[in-house]
Amino acid sequence: MLYNFHTHTYRCSHATGTEREYIERSIEGGIKYMGFSDHAPFRFPDGHESYYRVPMDMAEEYVAAIGKLRDEYKDKIEIHTGFEMEYYPKYFDEMLEIAKNCGAEYLIMGQHFIYNEYPNGKSAFYDTDSTDDLNEFVFCVSSAIKSGCFTYIAHPDNIKYTGSKEIYAREMRKICVLSREYNVPLELNLLGIRSGRNYPNTDFWKMAAEEKSPVVFGMDAHDAYNAYDADSVVKAEKLVEQLGLNYIGMPKLIDIQRL
Ligand SMILES: [Zn+2]
Ligand SMILES: [Zn+2]
Repeated sequence: MLYNFHTHTYRCSHATGTEREYIERSIEGGIKYMGFSDHAPFRFPDGHESYYRVPMDMAEEYVAAIGKLRDEYKDKIEIHTGFEMEYYPKYFDEMLEIAKNCGAEYLIMGQHFIYNEYPNGKSAFYDTDSTDDLNEFVFCVSSAIKSGCFTYIAHPDNIKYTGSKEIYAREMRKICVLSREYNVPLELNLLGIRSGRNYPNTDFWKMAAEEKSPVVFGMDAHDAYNAYDADSVVKAEKLVEQLGLNYIGMPKLIDIQRL
């Protein structure tokens, strides 16, 4: 595996290690193209900032710190600066502006919450049998794909829907179809594999195989060691083979500064 564009930093307050350690570990694993994609900074209208994001007042420093290392390591590895960001219908334009203004190059989409997150949002990681929740999740991911702003969709299958399998299949297939139509890859998330989460969800990836959606891998590293997680790469490769996924390798970065 020569690329990984899904990496966090300590700034989101739930990851550890320095950027330098992540970079060194990536080089050790043979990664040639790497991207940092910490949780996008945002301040809600009442001043609230989510606990798990890069704080607004650290955003420029985040980009600058990575830029410095990018130059230092340029002979060994190509480093890019991005964010992992949700698609919140109410705040998308503003979040995109913030990401652009602080100098990020690319975005991956990760829909961690639904209903605009705050103040009345819902985590997409808790069990839900509500079809409304599922529909909202699918709407957000679909909108992100159509926006043309995202390099790929991280863990498109993170929603923990416990309702009818038929409804799940009918709704989630829409993401697979759009991914193919708009050529926006879906990420097999290696954090999900390494920590035994509800994703990768085989029901979802069977549909992705049928629809021939483009597929990429992402380490989703929250510590330096997992900036190259060899065991999970092997497991992800097995899934690709077993399910017949359309694995495309390195995704083409969409430069948000040119949008
Ligand atoms: Zn995520
Ligand atoms: Zn992540």
